[in-house]
Amino acid sequence: MYTFAMLCHSDTNLRLCDLFENEAWNFNKLYTQLPSFYQDCICSITIDSDVDDKLIWSGSPNGIYSASHGYRWLDQNLNQQTVPNTTWSWIWRLQITENWQHFCWLVMHGSLPTNSFRASRHLTSNTYCHRCGAAVESDLHTLRDCPRAMSIWKYVYPTIPNNFYMLDCQLWFKHHATMEAGTKFIVTCFEIWRNRNEHIFQNTQKDTWNSVNNIISYHASMVYNLGTTSKHHVVRQVRWNLPPEGYIKINVDGSSFGNPGNAGFGGVLRNDMGLWIQGFYGSCGRASNLLAELSAIWKGKDFNSHGTLGINLSSWNLTLGQI
Ligand SMILES: [Zn+2]
Repeated sequence: MYTFAMLCHSDTNLRLCDLFENEAWNFNKLYTQLPSFYQDCICSITIDSDVDDKLIWSGSPNGIYSASHGYRWLDQNLNQQTVPNTTWSWIWRLQITENWQHFCWLVMHGSLPTNSFRASRHLTSNTYCHRCGAAVESDLHTLRDCPRAMSIWKYVYPTIPNNFYMLDCQLWFKHHATMEAGTKFIVTCFEIWRNRNEHIFQNTQKDTWNSVNNIISYHASMVYNLGTTSKHHVVRQVRWNLPPEGYIKINVDGSSFGNPGNAGFGGVLRNDMGLWIQGFYGSCGRASNLLAELSAIWKGKDFNSHGTLGINLSSWNLTLGQI
């Protein structure tokens, strides 16, 4: 426990050496009536006149202040009563880069600078979400509950876990960040947060498909570069890319049961925004995989490019150059 004595204003300009004369303390120079308990405490301090004055930090063994000793002192003396005994080391053990670890730390401390957070510190008077108009833009709203975020989550998790929209922010974040697929979860949160910032500060709106592509790309490079998988496991980034502006892209595939066997094919057409235009499928009777693939390409080329600059046709397993 720490007790502080209030000094009279006229005493605040005094230095310790003003009270230490002839190898002894002289409290008569003080206007403040110092209680005898404090006088005894001060008198018990041995002063070595041969040592020059210097600053001493009592929180470290050598008397020298450092940030880590200051943090430890605060942790032991001030924060014990207000902050629950939570360990944060799991954040620093995550196999992600430091800036994403710092992002996790902000989320777990409720310090993501959302409008709700900023309003609580009188940095803004608006708590609403710029993207959907919700009254309060909390960290949970930004990362999970905002419609813009939900449109991304449904692509990242085609089957949303049952409790995904039930937990509070810190429980929700830690639960999913520490799961086996935690890196993808963190990458998604980070992408959603970046989308939010780009919307506010650059007035740009990234469409969902671009965000999902970024998540796939960042996740693949993170896993590959930081080795969250075995050394023998080769990570290959697989993603669908938008066709050039004004073009449509047709993706087709075909296969057979038995090769040869009952065979079929199908395809989808999407525009330069990644939006679905049309789909098709068909049967080619008893055929080989190769014939099924060729049938898919043959059918795909029947779609003319009316209203577009051209068609970008690709098969999942086959290119014309292989034939
Ligand atoms: Zn919103």
